[in-house]
Amino acid sequence: MMNPSLNLMDLEELTSNAKQIQEDVLEEILTLNANTEYLHRFLHGSSDKVLFKKNVPVVTYDDVKPYIERVANGEPSDVISGGPITMFLRSTGTSGGKQKVFPVNDKYIEKLGYVIALRSLAMSKHFDSGGEQGKAMEFHCTKPPSATPSGLPRDEVVRVGAAFAFVLVRAIDFLEKHWKELCSNIRSGHVSEWITDLEGRNAVSTILRGPDSILADVIEQECSHKSWEGIITRLWPKAKYIDCIITGQMSQYIPMLEFYSNKLPIVSTTYGSSESTFGMNVDPLCKPQDTSYTCAPNISYFEFLPVDHKGDMASIVDLVDVKLGCYYEPVVTNYFGLHRYLIGDILQVTGFYNNTPQFRFVHRKNVVLSVRSETTTEEDILKALNHVGLVLESSDLMLMGFTCYADISTFPGHYVFYWELKAKDVQDVFELEEKVMVKCCSLLEESFDEVYRKNRSKDECIGPLEIRVVQQGTFDSLMEYFISQGGSIAQYKTPICINSSEALAVLENKVLARFFSEKSPPLDS
Ligand code: AMP
Repeated sequence: MMNPSLNLMDLEELTSNAKQIQEDVLEEILTLNANTEYLHRFLHGSSDKVLFKKNVPVVTYDDVKPYIERVANGEPSDVISGGPITMFLRSTGTSGGKQKVFPVNDKYIEKLGYVIALRSLAMSKHFDSGGEQGKAMEFHCTKPPSATPSGLPRDEVVRVGAAFAFVLVRAIDFLEKHWKELCSNIRSGHVSEWITDLEGRNAVSTILRGPDSILADVIEQECSHKSWEGIITRLWPKAKYIDCIITGQMSQYIPMLEFYSNKLPIVSTTYGSSESTFGMNVDPLCKPQDTSYTCAPNISYFEFLPVDHKGDMASIVDLVDVKLGCYYEPVVTNYFGLHRYLIGDILQVTGFYNNTPQFRFVHRKNVVLSVRSETTTEEDILKALNHVGLVLESSDLMLMGFTCYADISTFPGHYVFYWELKAKDVQDVFELEEKVMVKCCSLLEESFDEVYRKNRSKDECIGPLEIRVVQQGTFDSLMEYFISQGGSIAQYKTPICINSSEALAVLENKVLARFFSEKSPPLDS
């Protein structure tokens, strides 16, 4: 929903005055929190900004966890926060780490609402004839996907979305499996008995208001096509764009969403985390691969640690002092008790909107595969997958999910990728061609860096890369495993690399076939 008091000038003002706004935010936070037990240790009650930079250490979650846990266990908020802590947000813990809990209060929601309102303004500027005038079809996984509501009037939906691309792809996959039943429910006006969630049932019944054979026929006609190419635009013909996060590890879903939507614009609007909302995309029509996020300087106080800092914490810079093209890890000081907290994401500065930097999300820190001396990052893995995209496409295959790990239980160790594949045409029986799969193994290896290829080719310290193809639905099982550990589906991101033996066991039980690269990758001349 749009905040009526905001207009596009707010964005201009916000981004033109980033320096002053950041100063004010820090002052407000320090005044509010100076007497918390945590800050008092370093500032002795002062709210001086110079002292803050000098004395307050840059920390990770483990450093602040004991304080957060004390408040979560019932001690007063002022152990860590000057304002009241009224709730805790849980991170998914699937992007390379353990689950974390972060204290917040209503101000978090208020600030998030502000960014969402600004973001809507930026969107309506680009999708002018009413980008937001109409309905949005959003898939929110707040319960197991079996409760997904459907049957919305089709010709009013102008935007189809989900928080993360993964959820949208899963929703379409779910529809593909259940559309016949969905149509029969719409035709009879009765929701299947196995859907037991009462609120979900009631919500769907309210929309349905009784049998609707016309709607059932239309959905049936579209869903019974052999190919599901363009299914989104066929089901919701007025949809102007797809709205979901598609950067970082979600970029693997770009080809799939382009296929399902007949290449509607895919707009990745926001970058944020449980620690702080960070920024928004002010150029929604750019290619999804080129998405950058403009920092919103009034949300938290942001500093940036250069990736090549070599332990020199003094190299940390303020928001407005980052340099074009350079890589940084954001360090957040928020209103709720995190001070100089390392987020764990790596961003690259891609430009400036007025005086405010814009960032590309590069990858999650420390998510690397390594068998020997090579360090293969999340970004390298995603690039390698891009490399095999054409081969998959020409074989009419879609990659529904993947993850990987470095198997060092044998010598030489090697990279193992788990792939869930699916035929592009829904009615096609999906066949695995050995030749195609071996080629994919080789292409992945070829795109890794020189250190990998040298270790693999010359020194033979890395064994042939392996792809293990898993049964359909395996990545749903993997998600269910992580959710059973306390994660939320809405925030879920399939981990790019896995190191938990329990999670690996979920995958291992579903392996259908294994393929290995047959030749060493070429070296640079
Ligand atoms: P959580 O706190 O569990 O919601 O996860 C937050 C993390 O999700 C961030 O630190 C990022 O690693 C990732 N994330 C959030 N938004 C984006 C985005 N727009 N692009 C890429 N990754 C994102």
